[in-house]
Amino acid sequence: MISANITKQSDPAVQTEEAAAHSKGYLLYIENLSRAVNESFKALDKLKFSDSPLACALLRYRDRLPEKLCGLTELRPLNPKWVDELLSELGEERLQGEFSILKTKLITHSNFLAELQETGIKRTLGRDLRLSLPPVHIVFMHDPGAPQIQNSEDTTVRGYYNQKNASCFIKSPHPQARQLWRTLLLHGTLPGSVGTLDHELTHALQMLKVRYGPKISKEALLLLEVHAHEATCAAASAPHPSDEGSHSITRRLHKRFAKLDDFELKVHTAYTLLRSLRLFGTDDTELAQLVQRDSFDKKHKTYPLLKAHLAELIDSAGVKGCDVAPVIAALNARFRLERELTRIKARTIAQEQLAVIYRNVFATKSAA
Ligand SMILES: [Zn+2]
Repeated sequence: MISANITKQSDPAVQTEEAAAHSKGYLLYIENLSRAVNESFKALDKLKFSDSPLACALLRYRDRLPEKLCGLTELRPLNPKWVDELLSELGEERLQGEFSILKTKLITHSNFLAELQETGIKRTLGRDLRLSLPPVHIVFMHDPGAPQIQNSEDTTVRGYYNQKNASCFIKSPHPQARQLWRTLLLHGTLPGSVGTLDHELTHALQMLKVRYGPKISKEALLLLEVHAHEATCAAASAPHPSDEGSHSITRRLHKRFAKLDDFELKVHTAYTLLRSLRLFGTDDTELAQLVQRDSFDKKHKTYPLLKAHLAELIDSAGVKGCDVAPVIAALNARFRLERELTRIKARTIAQEQLAVIYRNVFATKSAA
């Protein structure tokens, strides 16, 4: 928690109406998460083959659940007005320099940036995100002098990837260090523009090495989209933590794909398989290769390649029969809980780093 004695008007603990509403929403989200985690782990009582190494690891994790769940409410939210006042005392250049120290601490002490490794954002965050994934050409369209490309008719689309010339267009400005600090301090996340970039670069992972025809069929595109959405939501830095799952993706993709047969079933099936594959350790480069080659099997109502790959992983983990569903549910619960704890850790690290900056600022001021 920040302890620097800043002589500013706002109180760190006093909540504005906006902050109170956000805080209420967050508490509800934490309550729901805790309930879901408890339920999923309770179901492990019914395991028939609880001697597989994976089941044993989950049962050991369950013993630590009370302590883990307590960690969800340890850090109180900060007043956004107070944070803005603190940050306004520092110039963009100073914030940028301090961010690189913060980033090293985040990498050393948490997994906060781990999911951004494959898209290259982990490396370029805080510097120049346009260099994230060569040879992909990245444009932040709202930057001064950025080329204006007319493409999407849909104004709700926040970015797009053009496979023809490996270009990625983000409909916002390149995030400043001030925004990175702000979202980290308040929410333990990164700005929406970083999430959009991660989504579009996941499309680059899918398409860089594969030649799709000039026009990708809507059927194929749907699976690529579900993967890109699932990948972005999987990151601890995802801008809207509570907005995930197949319902959320169905809502987002509805306008473009609702006319496809079995649209909702396809989204739900693809999402469930992709998230399960991730839980068993499949990374986005591998998922990108699988979604390129798979297509919906109408007769069996599934994506056969994803399903077969998952079955292999389940088998090699020694999970059998009716244990599969509760093990996957517990893995998912552990994933969601650890991701939330990672966000809290990121907020703590950012707040501690800001306190150090301010101690230095005041030491310099008093010495002058
Ligand atoms: Zn997309």
